[in-house]
Amino acid sequence: MSEKLYYNDSYIKEFTASILTQGEEPDGRWYVTLDQTAFYPTGGGQPSDIGYLNQSVVEDVQLINGEIRHYIQKPLHNDQFVVGTIDWMRRFDHMQQHLGQHILTAAFEELFGYQTTSFHLGEQLCSIDLNTEELSEKEIEDVEQLANSMILSNRLIETKWVQQHELDQYSLRKPPSVTENIRLVIIPNFDYNACGGTHPKSTGEVSSISILSTERQKQKVRVHFVCGQRVLDQLRAKQAITKQLTNLFSTPEDRIITAAERLIEIEKALSNEIEHLKEEVLEFEKNTYIKEYEMIGDCKVIKRVFEGRTMQELQRLSKMVSQAEQHVVSVFLNSDDDRFQLVLARGNAVTINMNDVLKKILSPINGKGGGSNQMAQGGGQKTIDVESYLNMIDEVLESHFHHDEL
Ligand SMILES: [Zn+2]
Repeated sequence: MSEKLYYNDSYIKEFTASILTQGEEPDGRWYVTLDQTAFYPTGGGQPSDIGYLNQSVVEDVQLINGEIRHYIQKPLHNDQFVVGTIDWMRRFDHMQQHLGQHILTAAFEELFGYQTTSFHLGEQLCSIDLNTEELSEKEIEDVEQLANSMILSNRLIETKWVQQHELDQYSLRKPPSVTENIRLVIIPNFDYNACGGTHPKSTGEVSSISILSTERQKQKVRVHFVCGQRVLDQLRAKQAITKQLTNLFSTPEDRIITAAERLIEIEKALSNEIEHLKEEVLEFEKNTYIKEYEMIGDCKVIKRVFEGRTMQELQRLSKMVSQAEQHVVSVFLNSDDDRFQLVLARGNAVTINMNDVLKKILSPINGKGGGSNQMAQGGGQKTIDVESYLNMIDEVLESHFHHDEL
């Protein structure tokens, strides 16, 4: 790996290099290694640069076995010089998020002693994990304030290559992960870090930091944040939502919450009202059905076919019927496009086992179900028409009455 020109020098957008090797990964991806490169390989929580080698798109860059592999679609001519071009918008954005993370990490530690255990730089959001179980709104505000004042003070970032024995002179946040050629990244009078990543020239280039949300995890708190242009993007997105809401509620911004609370209250009241009305409809249905029955022996048999009813409703209705009448058996059949569902119930004075009856009724429709001696429910495929199925149910019921009661 050449150190002549390297991604650590954060402001190289274009460079020339010679091809050292080309090869294919086991998964078929083609890669090129160069005598020098300004492409940053994935690492330290930061995604790789992308860009071009001549006209070939560099989709990914990885550090593997000490060499930096640039992944491209197809081989380049071996003898040629290549011009490498970094996707600068993306790189600068990464630099902002990355230095923003240094600042945020330092601010959390400085103010509250919370240490950062990991960093993730995502497509839209970044996050750090802090080794604390609680994080208050006030702490978040204080950290955000300090971090942004650090940006405003526009301190120049210093980098230094040092050896391990020199480390005593600096108060590093954590020991470096390498033992030689250690690169220090310093925000003067604020933060000393061993870091191989890419950084802007000064804290001012981070532009701003916004903490968006926090998430409690097992023994840590995850803090989601954005820096630079992403802060503006977030603000725009949130403003668009606010604008939509003010239109929807026809109310000014500062009254949206009141309007939403009112809507939720209305919704609750309406669902209660609907529940109440449903109950009244069921009551009405029950009163109608118990007047229309066939007699088998001294038992009233009530049968009804429905479409699009829920099982809960039919169960509720069955209960109401069997509580209203002692000598009653009810069969409520729901018939949908390709399924039958049914609920069987009996009054206290009837002795036949509804679960047994159900099993016999379900078997011709490959159905499944079960329940108690008094009430049972199940469903199956609509293998026959409603009329034939009702006749079949009649036969099963009659055989039970004869068997059990005669
Ligand atoms: Zn860094």
